[in-house]
Amino acid sequence: MTRKTSVRQGLLARRERFRRALLAWYRASRRRLPWRESPSAYGTVVSEFMLQQTQVATVVPYYLRWMEALPGFAQLAAAPESRVLKLWEGLGYYRRARNLHRLAKAVVAGATPREAEGWEQLPGVGPYTAAAIASIAFGRPEACVDGNVVRILSRLTRDGVLHADGARAARSHAALARGLLDAAAPGDHNQAMMELGATVCARRAPRCAQCPVRRFCAAAAAGDPERYPRLKRKTTESRSVVRVWCERDGRLLLHVNPPGSRRLAGIHELPTAEQAGLGDARAGAGPLVARETRGITRYRITESIHRARPPLRAMPGLVWVPIADLDSVAMSGPHRRWTGRILGVRPA
Ligand code: SF4
Repeated sequence: MTRKTSVRQGLLARRERFRRALLAWYRASRRRLPWRESPSAYGTVVSEFMLQQTQVATVVPYYLRWMEALPGFAQLAAAPESRVLKLWEGLGYYRRARNLHRLAKAVVAGATPREAEGWEQLPGVGPYTAAAIASIAFGRPEACVDGNVVRILSRLTRDGVLHADGARAARSHAALARGLLDAAAPGDHNQAMMELGATVCARRAPRCAQCPVRRFCAAAAAGDPERYPRLKRKTTESRSVVRVWCERDGRLLLHVNPPGSRRLAGIHELPTAEQAGLGDARAGAGPLVARETRGITRYRITESIHRARPPLRAMPGLVWVPIADLDSVAMSGPHRRWTGRILGVRPA
């Protein structure tokens, strides 16, 4: 028997005590979050979609606004896409909003699945989200394995494997997660694991002294939890994008992708120099009005916005929006921020 197998088996042999310690901690210390206060299938689905790639603190106000505007699958299914995107504005990764909209239409047209396999057939639902919905909303014994859970399990077992990426690490820990799952309270168990990863077993400086499962943890015993999980380092790629700021008669030039586009359909953005038909060359050498560098997945993108004269020829997707009406269109978060900043600093 390898060391890895014996550590896992030792943990599984003590699973009852592990579950009890975890659940007692969760029920006493969990954060009061709106989707936990009055749980419903719809609220669970909405919160799980919003929480993909977004922090809890950012999601809470969006969730509250969303539930007030679109309180159920039927209202969401009947809403126009422009309203859905507007409510999502600023959360990013807009494909989530479009998938959630399509999911609501499918649920209204058919039946609400109760099993994870049924949820996985619906738009935007992967294995993790399906397990979360099935366990939290329907009490099904499905184990969730996200980045938080991978971190905890790899520390509990001092997993020495170097995983190619998070998805492979999740697959490698799936059997252990299933073995530890409390089938009598799968929703609470899964939420407890995620809560532990988010609030105690942090990526840096885990608070092992406060951890309810410390006595089961091989990495805490060895004093090296931050070494786990072991994931191959991602290479980052730098890119630069030139955008243009064109105003005419109190209107601002924006670019919007048509419905059905794979990326950012219906979302308004400042056009790139190419979309505006201006070529790069720093957008006709107009003055720079804003610049920002940010990380998106494995890219480090620097976006420079230059003031430019309006394009001479019509280009697909370009629209003139009255500056007074900018609040009424759906705009991605960074573009809303840049637009506000540029308009705010403009001389009166
Ligand atoms: S003891 Fe420390 S490393 Fe182990 S699970 Fe708890 S917080 Fe994480």
